[in-house]
Amino acid sequence: MTRAVVGSVGLLAALLAAFTVVVEAGAQSSWKQHDMSRPRPPIVEPAAQTLPVPAPADAIVLFDGDDLDQWEAVDGSPTRWALEGGAMISVAGAGYIQTKQSFGDVQLHVEWAAPLPVMGSSQGRGNSGVFLMGLYEVQVLDSYDNETYADGQAAAVYGQYPPLYNVARPPGEWQTYDIFFRRPRFSEAGALLEPARLTVVHNGILVQNNVEPWGPTTWLQALPYASHPDRLPLQLQDHGNPVRYRNIWIRELHEPPAAPAAGAYDEPVMEMTSAELDRYVGRYGAWTVQREGNRLRMRFNGPQSLELVPRSATRFTLRHTDGTIEFELGPDGVPTGLTFHLGGAVTPVRRSN
Ligand code: MG
Repeated sequence: MTRAVVGSVGLLAALLAAFTVVVEAGAQSSWKQHDMSRPRPPIVEPAAQTLPVPAPADAIVLFDGDDLDQWEAVDGSPTRWALEGGAMISVAGAGYIQTKQSFGDVQLHVEWAAPLPVMGSSQGRGNSGVFLMGLYEVQVLDSYDNETYADGQAAAVYGQYPPLYNVARPPGEWQTYDIFFRRPRFSEAGALLEPARLTVVHNGILVQNNVEPWGPTTWLQALPYASHPDRLPLQLQDHGNPVRYRNIWIRELHEPPAAPAAGAYDEPVMEMTSAELDRYVGRYGAWTVQREGNRLRMRFNGPQSLELVPRSATRFTLRHTDGTIEFELGPDGVPTGLTFHLGGAVTPVRRSN
């Protein structure tokens, strides 16, 4: 008996261990990070855009070209990034710049331009980065005719996901990132409940489609998630190249309303015999009520039919849709018409047979 219990525990542990391994292997790519043989994304020439893209009414404008009031160095001191000609410019050695405000789930619009004249190559050319929560980098790089590893070019989730396409504009031209970010979720105890998610549109073209970073992005290594606050500053990278930014705005995304609890729609069902159900069978305007076994169904135009669940002798509801059918009964209890309530519309129809 003892041995059997031990055996079960051992089996459970082995299963859990196997499950853990599968989760880790599944979450990460089997590509080695920065593999130069990894295929480069196809080049697509983006369409002309009307820039700058105006901020929606509910956006927080983080930079409109006038001042750096919403930004600071990562140690909280004033930033040494430059402000010039309506752009903020990364200054070598000044360090990352971050927002004074913290954010979680966001929609972020950023316009940036790689430096002219072109200097350097590969990761040394026009390198910066948009760091969501200061941890998850959407790479900024001059990827116009610039050979580098696939997971490090412009719009890569750095070191993890190359962009689907290379849509880089030439250096000096303004480019847009529209980033849709869902932060990771952690339990109270700090366990990962849900990885982060990133969608990126670069110059109007989808280049990251709801990818899941497997941890903070970093150079040369794969870091696992570590529990962090729900809101952290947005950072832009100083990688030693004078990359320019302008027109940065952000929208905080709210959680959709919680789904109702199980049983929220529960309502007693009225039991009816087949003979009782048959009294409702007939045509009502363009609709037909039929009986199938001990259930009523209403057919609309075409073959689709929906089940009508009896709640009383006069009131039936749709099983999966918020719709109600109120029957009008004659003195003999046989319906003479119905009123269909759906989506705010109220449609009375007479019975025609
Ligand atoms: Mg970078």
